[in-house]
Amino acid sequence: MLKRLLIAAIVIVLVAFVIQEQQQRTSGSRRPRKSQPVHTRRGARKLTSPPVTSFVSDTGGRELIVRVLDVGQGDATYIRNGSSRVIIDGGPDTAVFGRYLDSLRLNNSTIDVVILSHQHLDHYNGLRELFRTSRHIRIRYFFENEDPATAVTLARLRDSILSRMDRDSLIYRDTDDPCSNGRRICTITMTGGAKLHILAPMPGGEGANNRSAVVKLIAPDSAAFTMWFAGDAEHEEISWFETAGYDRDPGMRVSALKADHHGSCNGVTPRYLALLKPQWMVASLGARNDYGHMHTQAKAIYRQAGVPWYRTDQNGTVTIRSPGADGKGFSITPERPGVDLDGPSDRTSSQGKCASP
Ligand SMILES: [Zn+2]
Repeated sequence: MLKRLLIAAIVIVLVAFVIQEQQQRTSGSRRPRKSQPVHTRRGARKLTSPPVTSFVSDTGGRELIVRVLDVGQGDATYIRNGSSRVIIDGGPDTAVFGRYLDSLRLNNSTIDVVILSHQHLDHYNGLRELFRTSRHIRIRYFFENEDPATAVTLARLRDSILSRMDRDSLIYRDTDDPCSNGRRICTITMTGGAKLHILAPMPGGEGANNRSAVVKLIAPDSAAFTMWFAGDAEHEEISWFETAGYDRDPGMRVSALKADHHGSCNGVTPRYLALLKPQWMVASLGARNDYGHMHTQAKAIYRQAGVPWYRTDQNGTVTIRSPGADGKGFSITPERPGVDLDGPSDRTSSQGKCASP
């Protein structure tokens, strides 16, 4: 009898192993191993584009889900709460962002709010994929600063926006006046109870980065989780946030920060972190980038302030969940483990405005 039980147990373990092996083989979430060669030639970068995890658990409810997507050197964030869906930026690559749209099951759906933080390709280009006819994605609101720009790809995105506007199927909002009421703050409530404050960028900020719109996200229980997204805002705009009174209304203290400007030293100051007091920071960047992100000086500032970080180039997509029930806090989970990691492109920046580490 004992012998039979033993044999049965061995068979069950073997079957379970085979099933697991099969799942790993068929799963879309498998990533190239670290030991595999990495292409560094400019033209070959797309070959290292991240494969996409399945996000079937994004089913709605009061839970707030934030996914800082691993789109390479750029930013893209997907937010879900109740039936509301929000996208902030789309990363640099239409194919990579398109694969996320597939895995997030956003084809044939409505995106309530799309926000383009500012006019750089590493933030807007992926958003063009939202307008691909075959995806049948409806967009209710599209926010951007509408500053004049010469890039052909941005002009194409704007053509798509305007064409939908003409058909009365999309509302196009200028982040300088986000609620079209002359106020700098526009608040949107998601159906699960989470709130989104869209904050106007610095008027006349120098360069596109310092014209980044800000989003402050607040969980249904505001004490449980809040997050700050400020695009690629640099020192000039970061200090203006205080001038604009954002530290008082809507308040800058948050649970988590999406790092400004991909972990550049010009996207963080000790004062900024003193105002935000984040418990976590997530930087979105590509492992091989020409800018030296994350900068040594930036990492020193985050470390000094006691802010641990995840970074998409090393940790993959980072997912934050807040249950939506009072006092339940939040969880933050990277695709791949490791905290405060370094990356292959990290270096000390020679920018004058960045102090030595
Ligand atoms: Zn950027």
